[in-house]
Amino acid sequence: MSRLPASLFALGVLAVAPACFAQSPQPQSAQSKPELRVFDPSLIDTSVNPCENFYRYSCNGWFKRNPLPADETSYGRFTELFELNRLRLRGILEAAEAPSSLRTPNEQKIGDAYESCMNTAAIDKQGLAPLRPELDRIAALQSVNELPTLLAHLHRLGVDAFFSMGSSPDFDNAHNVIAFYGSGGLGLPERDYYTRTDPKSVEQRRQYVEHVQKIFTLSGESDAQAAKDADTVLAIETRLAKATLTITEQRDPQNLNHPTTIAAFAKTLPNFSLAEYVTAARAPAVGKIDVTEPKFFAEFNALVAGTPLDRIRTYLRWHLLHAYAVPTSLDHETWHFYAHILNGAQQEQDRWKRCTSMVDNGLGEALGQVYVAKYFPPDAKVRALKMTLAIEKAMDQDIDGLDWMSPETKAKAKEKLHAVMNKIGYPDKWRDYSKLTIKRNDDIGNAERIRAFDFDRDLAKIGKPVDKDEWQMTPPTVNAYYDPQQNNVNFPAGYFQPPFFSNKEDDAANYGDMGSTIGHELTHGFDDQGRQFDKDGNLRDWWTKADEQNFNDRAECMVKQYDAIEPVPGVHLNGKLTLGENLADLGGLWLAWEAWQEQAKAEHIDMHATMNGYTPDQRFWIAYAQQWCTDTRPEQLRTQAQTDPHAPDEYRTNSVLQDLPAFARSFSCKKTDKMVSANPCRVW
Ligand SMILES: [Zn+2]
Repeated sequence: MSRLPASLFALGVLAVAPACFAQSPQPQSAQSKPELRVFDPSLIDTSVNPCENFYRYSCNGWFKRNPLPADETSYGRFTELFELNRLRLRGILEAAEAPSSLRTPNEQKIGDAYESCMNTAAIDKQGLAPLRPELDRIAALQSVNELPTLLAHLHRLGVDAFFSMGSSPDFDNAHNVIAFYGSGGLGLPERDYYTRTDPKSVEQRRQYVEHVQKIFTLSGESDAQAAKDADTVLAIETRLAKATLTITEQRDPQNLNHPTTIAAFAKTLPNFSLAEYVTAARAPAVGKIDVTEPKFFAEFNALVAGTPLDRIRTYLRWHLLHAYAVPTSLDHETWHFYAHILNGAQQEQDRWKRCTSMVDNGLGEALGQVYVAKYFPPDAKVRALKMTLAIEKAMDQDIDGLDWMSPETKAKAKEKLHAVMNKIGYPDKWRDYSKLTIKRNDDIGNAERIRAFDFDRDLAKIGKPVDKDEWQMTPPTVNAYYDPQQNNVNFPAGYFQPPFFSNKEDDAANYGDMGSTIGHELTHGFDDQGRQFDKDGNLRDWWTKADEQNFNDRAECMVKQYDAIEPVPGVHLNGKLTLGENLADLGGLWLAWEAWQEQAKAEHIDMHATMNGYTPDQRFWIAYAQQWCTDTRPEQLRTQAQTDPHAPDEYRTNSVLQDLPAFARSFSCKKTDKMVSANPCRVW
């Protein structure tokens, strides 16, 4: 998997909800909701001036109709489609759940995985017993010399302790997969949570320690011991955090490109036998590797030698329990900290929702196969591809017209654009799960085997050519991504549906919505991160110095624009962290607009003919804005502003449109109106 895929939007909070649940309300059937539309005039609030706040103008009707559900931390149009897809997946899983000799091997796996997750009576009867062998293994750690083997074992089970190891394309030669050693081992969302000194952050750290303590207590420790152990966890994680790059620094691939060999890396870790770790992980013992953060590993090496063994055991025990908080008491406590405290959720999600997501995460291509056969008509793929090609053509023309780029760099940019591969819907070749065993009534065991299967599969790629047919999102996913190391755009089947795309609606709506998304993903190939990769996906500079300077000057306009935004009192957006996404939003919408204008011309569309009182151009902008109608809890807004490379949805609408004079023209906005920037930013 690539280190740096740039997606359309970040998945919000992990679905760590569930359990301890009271009688769950019956889910709405997929049919009982009003039909989802790409351009929906009934959502518009005409009492708002579109030139003052276009987001409110386009979405107020939606807000009125959709109060934020208690179990959600944010709820928007993406969630609407996500829920519809989830109901469909539930139908597939419930059909596969009943034991039957007629089930295919994949149906047995997805059905029994779902059943195991749903069966909370069996889960609580077993408690942590299935985890006992792993807890014992950690307790048996007698010397720091045994740590490499133990850590490799835990990593194979998906336990995020100390550091991460996996495979990814070589930054310098994107055709080949090599091993990557990266930072890791934190329980809070990212490193700055350990270092900020404002009162809210201090309070969140205190609540985190309380959470770790509760998890230890629930695993059987005395209150006093659990309190002591929780302090140990925070101390070790704080040391690791301080040696970790900030998330903004991690976005620059140059900061992560440190090619070396296992032998040379081993010499920098005198206190940790890398050879033993590699053997135990069953990773290749020779060849090129990338150590993304050498400074982090220097600290890890020092920490291993200078920390009493019982503290290391405590730290490992915490991460094991954190990764397998399956019994309902631990599960509830995990929800309480991560979903409620950090993101403001008021109520746990129904169990079936979490279990459906679990199967989608763990066995996504087995579940996805059934999903696409039922819900992804071939004509959707044809129209989506046609639109993608139209947007690519718009970008080609856009590059020709740039007044800040030299002919030399333009030629390279176009080479890269023409090399982009479009992946739509689902993989041509499905993942083979035949070697994975899934059992009934064995939720922890299934989770262990799924993670080990993924780990082994990931490591098996090392030393081989990159498989560009592989997907990093499952088919039902409501999202999309660009992979800079493969130079391809990926649109899962789950996304090509109303309210984002509809075969029943006209091009004005579809270009404003799905067209802008296609443009967004394409622009990622040319954002501050993507532009550093060449047409083959290699991290290689193809820009002249002057063009690079011009790009940076223009990008700086957007850094300042977003730095100034304060979504929660006292918390500003991070213009540098969100730069890539903001560039993609602005460039993508511009490309969609250009492509739509071409399309309208080619089809002689009457640009004055209105539908529901709106011209085609106005419908284009409204459809764009309506994809972002989202209600978000303030707690999640804070977390998002501090961790997410995407700006909150309100700004993905208004801030982007303020920079586009074509928008102002469509609604006859005046220069002095809020929706018109005096000094609009523009890069692509
Ligand atoms: Zn994106």
